[in-house]
Amino acid sequence: MTNLQDMYDIATRLRKELITKHMETGMAHIGSDLSCLNVLLTLYAKVMGENDKFILSKGHAALALYSVLHYVGILKDDIYSTLGQDGSLLGEHPLYGIDGLEFATGSLGHGLPLAAGMALAKKMSSEGGFIYVLLSDGECQEGSTLEAMNFIARERLDNLICAIDSNLWQAYDRTLFQIDKVRGVFGAAGWEDIRVIDGRKFEDIYNALADGNRNGPRLVISKSIMALGVKSMEDQLEWHYRPPTREQAERFIREIEEG
Ligand SMILES: [Mg+2]
Repeated sequence: MTNLQDMYDIATRLRKELITKHMETGMAHIGSDLSCLNVLLTLYAKVMGENDKFILSKGHAALALYSVLHYVGILKDDIYSTLGQDGSLLGEHPLYGIDGLEFATGSLGHGLPLAAGMALAKKMSSEGGFIYVLLSDGECQEGSTLEAMNFIARERLDNLICAIDSNLWQAYDRTLFQIDKVRGVFGAAGWEDIRVIDGRKFEDIYNALADGNRNGPRLVISKSIMALGVKSMEDQLEWHYRPPTREQAERFIREIEEG
């Protein structure tokens, strides 16, 4: 199993890889990939076991998920290398049929209700393991997210862990759901185990996601930022949709290497 300290180096490598992949394919959403990469990497490399399942509700961060699935060996080289090509399984949003994925996602607000159903089904069949789901902060505005939030609290689904990638942006603007509001809304619905963590720190992410001491659903709000880890890209609207040019990609990679 990957050592927590080593995760920083692995994440740095994956950040460079993502910049290159976005440049080569012209795919969007690099800012979102980078903001949630650390959570995805921790889940797949350190936290999840055989009976656990994960849903990427913010499906537009698909490339970050592919890079992590490839790193842990679930996504094989021959598939990963087709990224962005005509006919490839790997597009800008996850498709059903990709190894390691449960659902096609990308229509925002679907992940938490899906996770609720999966977690309830696990409990009804006395099956062990946990359901992990990662939402964007913007998805907290979706009615389906809020309905699922209430249902999960009422059913006390203690096998469900919801992480929110709090990168402070939603498409072209700041999201209305900043950290205090997210905490307040979920808290009012009856979620008691709410943790706000530093999304830069693998120790924080691991401790919040892996802690087995649960007696209800858990919400983990990961304090992040758009394009986390590349200083000159961070918190800038343009990186929600724009892929970098070759010149920009080379500059960002140099910047990462120079620390
Ligand atoms: Mg966001």
